[in-house]
Amino acid sequence: MKLLETHTVGLPVGNETKPVVTMKEYAVIAALDLETSNSVLGIVSKIAGIVDGVKIGVPTLLESGTGILSKVRDLMDDQLLLVDLKIADIGFRSGTSWSGTNGKILEKLRGSGATHVTVHGFPGPWSVAEAVHIGNEVGLGILLLPLMSHVGADIFFSRPIEASGFERSCIVAGINPNLSGDLPVRDVTDGILSLGETIGVAGYIGPATRPEDLRRYRMFTDKPIWCPGFGRQDRLGRSLAKQFQDWADVLGPRSAAIVGSTIYGARDAVAAAHEVIQIRDSIKSVRHLTE
Ligand code: C5P
Repeated sequence: MKLLETHTVGLPVGNETKPVVTMKEYAVIAALDLETSNSVLGIVSKIAGIVDGVKIGVPTLLESGTGILSKVRDLMDDQLLLVDLKIADIGFRSGTSWSGTNGKILEKLRGSGATHVTVHGFPGPWSVAEAVHIGNEVGLGILLLPLMSHVGADIFFSRPIEASGFERSCIVAGINPNLSGDLPVRDVTDGILSLGETIGVAGYIGPATRPEDLRRYRMFTDKPIWCPGFGRQDRLGRSLAKQFQDWADVLGPRSAAIVGSTIYGARDAVAAAHEVIQIRDSIKSVRHLTE
């Protein structure tokens, strides 16, 4: 499979960025929201050679501790390992050093085998900047959440924000989002995308359930967009194949599909993983032929 160029995890504006990990085009990530660490490891051992990465969530970490991450890593080759912590704590900078809670949480993942971690953008510029700064030191790509996939996620994320006030507040925090007139920041989602672009996150989490919103993401960024919401969360009456088609059409190759219960909840998880990969591959080959 063709590899995307190595993407970079950025430091806050003005700092150098360094390469962290390579990511495949139209990657498929299995979200393993299972009850016990044994069941997580059992399924990883079966599907690690099929999918392009694995996502481990908070319930698994609470049950097993971060030690499970190195066990998962031992069962994989160089695939992606996303830790879905959805970190939303403070950033605190004194001089040039960061000592908020976001950084302390990320430090706990140092050497864990994880490649990426999810971080919320709504706590503002310092939280995101600290996450990116410490993530870069620890070797983790930060994926920001400008919106979520579930019912009602738009209630808060789609609240309008006033662009000049947003820009002023960011500048006070030491980060200039350089808003372009062509692409106005209209709501919270836009503000978080703009913050992520300015600070230099590795990519974003975007809802596969909301293709129109993904279109808006792509206007803001060329970075990888990782999408949960396939299968059970679809609310547009689409087949799995149609969901994949829409996702690929809107986002192009710098994207990942995060697929949970469709794989781990299937009677035969290996067969389900193969089926998902087959859907992805057929869409990919058609797109490559037509591009
Ligand atoms: O089973 P399903 O495919 O719906 O699982 C989706 C996974 O992606 C879950 O682990 C969920 O926590 C996660 N996720 C999501 N929406 C987001 C961010 C993460 O569904 N915005």
